[in-house]
Amino acid sequence: ADGSNPSRQCVKTTCPYCGVGCGVAATVDEAGNATIAGDPDHPANFGRLCSKGAALAETLDLDGRLLRPWVDGRPASWETALDLVARRFAETIAEHGPDSVAFYVSGQCLTEDYYVANKLMKGFIGSANIDTNSRLCMASTVAGHRRAFGSDTVPGCYTDLEQADLVVLVGSNLAWCHPVLFQRLVAARAARPAMRIVAIDPRRTVTAEEADLHLAIRPNSDAALFNGLLAHLADTGAVDRAFLAAHTEGFDQALAATRGLAPAALADATGLDPAAIARFYALFRETRRVVTVFSQGVNQSTGGTDKVNAILNCHLATGRIGRPGTGPFSVTGQPNAMGGREVGGLANQLAAHMEIENPAHRDVVRRFWNAPRLAERPGLKAVELFQAIEAGRVKAVWIMCTNPADSLPEADRVVAALRACPFVVVSEAMADTDTTRLADVLLPAAAWGEKDGTVTNSERRISRQRAFRRAPGEARPDWWALTRVACRLGFADAFPYRNAAEIFREHAALSEFDNDGSRDFDIGPLVGLSDAAYDAMAPVQWPVRDLGDTGLPDRRLFGDGRFFTPSGKARLIPIAAPQPVPMPERMFVLNTGRVRDHWHTLTRTGLSPRLTAHLAEPFAEIHPDDAHRLGASEAGLLRIKNSRGAILVRALVTDRVQPGSVFVPMHWTDRFASAARVDAVVPADTDPISGQPGSKAAAVRVEAYRPA
Ligand code: SF4
Repeated sequence: ADGSNPSRQCVKTTCPYCGVGCGVAATVDEAGNATIAGDPDHPANFGRLCSKGAALAETLDLDGRLLRPWVDGRPASWETALDLVARRFAETIAEHGPDSVAFYVSGQCLTEDYYVANKLMKGFIGSANIDTNSRLCMASTVAGHRRAFGSDTVPGCYTDLEQADLVVLVGSNLAWCHPVLFQRLVAARAARPAMRIVAIDPRRTVTAEEADLHLAIRPNSDAALFNGLLAHLADTGAVDRAFLAAHTEGFDQALAATRGLAPAALADATGLDPAAIARFYALFRETRRVVTVFSQGVNQSTGGTDKVNAILNCHLATGRIGRPGTGPFSVTGQPNAMGGREVGGLANQLAAHMEIENPAHRDVVRRFWNAPRLAERPGLKAVELFQAIEAGRVKAVWIMCTNPADSLPEADRVVAALRACPFVVVSEAMADTDTTRLADVLLPAAAWGEKDGTVTNSERRISRQRAFRRAPGEARPDWWALTRVACRLGFADAFPYRNAAEIFREHAALSEFDNDGSRDFDIGPLVGLSDAAYDAMAPVQWPVRDLGDTGLPDRRLFGDGRFFTPSGKARLIPIAAPQPVPMPERMFVLNTGRVRDHWHTLTRTGLSPRLTAHLAEPFAEIHPDDAHRLGASEAGLLRIKNSRGAILVRALVTDRVQPGSVFVPMHWTDRFASAARVDAVVPADTDPISGQPGSKAAAVRVEAYRPA
């Protein structure tokens, strides 16, 4: 029933970590041991793997796996567990209404899992209370794309980075967070030495060290920097007037919003040397082929959506979009953040990139699903969702493939909220996480290498994940558990799925159903895939034109100057860049992020001896001047605290960070290192448009810790 085929010897699948979406070739010997290599035919990586991907075979051990369902701390059968989940959800809905229940899913769910969860909650339970940890990853980009393009569309593809003459990396430590894409970029520059790389990041990361120009920007001043760039381009006659007139609207208003920031004020706002700003602006102005890559330094901000649009404005004003080697390019953190966007995994979306607030789109989905009670308004976004649990408004939650007890901001509040929630279901591959400890019902989930489905990477390329080993114990795919609960809730006709291929074909059909051309996402021709063709499916970029549409040259959108707004024109958005807010005396700016060899809360990479050897414990990067002032020594303990919580980590004294700031990686939880869970001190403040939390500029106190 789970579609696995353990008889295959060499199986092509996709890496389960970052949004680059590298192809992986898994070879299983007669004893069942797997060897992992890069897939030379996959267009994302052409055989390359980074350290995390190359160590995947070390993470397949069954130690610590959740092998059967548990109910109230006791082993149970699937029948018992599923009956209880369905009964408690039905009772809660009957007593308190559909908005009293919620799903919280993950950018690591496969598209098929995501589709079924979204359909059940939005179409049949009748609430849009399904959100995803992708809210923490790229929600600001989604909102920015929709404002500018009328749709959530990444215009370009990876080859654009190789074909550009200037690559601007904003809030992106590409070398560690998207390593194979970074390898491609560095190789392209080696072949074309005239190519330039600019890195905009408060920290001197490994990426910044590779750059020709590093702008160590003041946190949260990206919008000011790109507003200044837009004004500079206009003042120097470098905007593309013909493109603006034919294909955009809003330029004059966007430009007007940039006025009033004199060069000295811009330098003050950004903390940058005016000469460095001038060099960046000149590089952008004089280079026709420019790609601006942006990631979590832009997205994870209370002004994230505005930062995205400030970047998009500059590309639209100069027509640097939709052509080889040009364009704004958001890279997603997770392996299937894009797939989740395709099926409406966010609380404010419907499937197939349709809008929940658009009556025509709701009608399309209602008719296609024959849905009895399609949700009519957006649901709770991730942070709001857990605050609603805390407030007692959401009384039953099903969490899949993610660990919010560690990964959401104000993590201690999240733990308390889940502890008080009347009914918590957790689907997980691992038995013991800080979230599984809070579950009333634990459901064993099939993990990477054990289930079939698809993921979509940052360049819109859909790739198969394939099973190459049998799921252990009683572990099952998430779509299977969701389907069984849907049947128990009385929706068997709408959830007849026997394998992932059936779900994918329905998902493809919805992307085309009643397609009025107002949406970019179209994989309709793939509805014709047989089970065998789905099994053999090669990576394909959307939009898909026909069934044989694989192996074609890289596909871009907007090359014809047509966008998905009602007028067909892209919108430049006026951005009011925030004024710099002085940090209160003795407070530090806390920045968070990833390290090269770990992933999220370590549930998989923590199993690999090779990866753990890179960095065995967390650290706090602090500038030597601050360390001296605090009396902190290298590798001594630092206590980092604010009103939300406190953590204890070792000092790494380095001038990679600016004075007054401290950087702590996001991966370690209290299970791996005592009191190191950085989200305990990250406030749950969100971008007002996207709902994405700002995870990179918390105000904290730092002190040298000396045990009594
Ligand atoms: Fe996996 Fe990303 Fe590394 Fe590729 S770059 S191997 S997708 S972690």
